[in-house]
Amino acid sequence: MAIIGGGIGGLTAGIALRRAGFEPVIHERAAAFGEVGAGISLSPNAVKGLEALGLADFLARTANEPLDQFLFHGETGEELLRYDRRTTRETYGAAYYQLHRADLLAGLVEAFGAGRCVMGAALARIEQDGAGVRLGFADGSEERADVAIAADGLRSTVREMLFDPSEPRFSGHVAWRALIPAETLPERARLPASINHVGPGRNLVTYPVRGCGLVNMVALTRSDDWVEESWNARAMPGELAALFEGWAGYVGAVIAAIPQDALYRWGLFVREPLPTWVRGRVALLGDAAHPMLPFMGQGASSTIEDAVVLGRCFEAAAHAQEALRLYESARIERASFLQAESNCGGDRLQALDPYALRDNPPQNEDALGIFRYDPARVGIT
Ligand SMILES: Cc1cc2nc3c(=O)[nH]c(=O)nc-3n(C[C@H](O)[C@H](O)[C@H](O)COP(=O)(O)OP(=O)(O)OC[C@H]3O[C@@H](n4cnc5c(N)ncnc54)[C@H](O)[C@@H]3O)c2cc1C
Repeated sequence: MAIIGGGIGGLTAGIALRRAGFEPVIHERAAAFGEVGAGISLSPNAVKGLEALGLADFLARTANEPLDQFLFHGETGEELLRYDRRTTRETYGAAYYQLHRADLLAGLVEAFGAGRCVMGAALARIEQDGAGVRLGFADGSEERADVAIAADGLRSTVREMLFDPSEPRFSGHVAWRALIPAETLPERARLPASINHVGPGRNLVTYPVRGCGLVNMVALTRSDDWVEESWNARAMPGELAALFEGWAGYVGAVIAAIPQDALYRWGLFVREPLPTWVRGRVALLGDAAHPMLPFMGQGASSTIEDAVVLGRCFEAAAHAQEALRLYESARIERASFLQAESNCGGDRLQALDPYALRDNPPQNEDALGIFRYDPARVGIT
């Protein structure tokens, strides 16, 4: 059994499949595991899945638990909304966690086993016949597998070759990310809370990671086009400061504290929902199947849901093709719903008049019931 891609999706699928009694091998293009220097939020739906895979202690040790999520008016700094996260465990059956992406990846690699990963293996071709799947790599090597799980991200080679040759489309949204040493920031940035300042076409979020040592900053802005050759690039804090000129003092203080070499800018790309994720012995998972904009923090969380359900389907099914069929039918509606809601989340959040959010709170993750899902228990027949 082969998994293409050793990101959050490939590694979590690997752990789930090993727990189901299989021996998958991960083929990862990069020479070494790595994640961007940024934070990640894992909502209770994902945390229930990771806990079912034996990662409860790791998460409790490594992640922060925000007590509140605030929305502030970008310019005046007035509080618009507060979501109390103190009761998350009782309400949804698991915590809401925030952590450093590199720490999450390291925990997943350890749980899966670094020895089961082939690094520097960039998939270039994939073919299949009745007996199995043939994988061709950029260095000319070949492997055979009975099943291949494609967790190779938004620009998935497998998606392009077997499912959808179209190019991802620039969404008009740009993400700016940095990790900032906490001691250089206002006291408020170190509190166990998400602080989101919102305004027309822009918002800026902070939350602490690694205890209170670092603060994750992500800003979302808009642009008519994406002219960079790469879809992520180093950026200067001055460029971001110009976009948030005139905003509340907290926003200015956060941007002023970004170290000169710590800011990256990402063009955010979207793809159409797919009618199927399975072709013969090959299945798509995570961003390869359903990439989504980050406005509800559900991209990795839904990828983790896929992986946990995939493992259960292999455990339950009589043979691989039945497992893939069960996986697709258990997951495609849920993931397509999260994809659609996330992709319009920017328009909801970055409203022309931020006071409208206070007066008419948007359909956020709580209101949509997203956190109630439990990938370790959801029906798979
Ligand atoms: C600004 C921003 C903030 C976000 N914040 C959150 C958040 O707070 N919470 C959340 O849940 N989600 C968040 N997301 C989304 C989340 O990062 C993704 O949904 C998630 O990383 C997808 O995981 P994946 O494993 O499917 O893909 P990826 O993380 O893209 O991993 C794909 C892997 O496949 C490898 N690969 C690619 N091509 C090949 C090939 N040909 N051969 C072999 N290997 C290959 C890559 O090197 C990579 O390791 C955010 C996204 C953005 C852009």
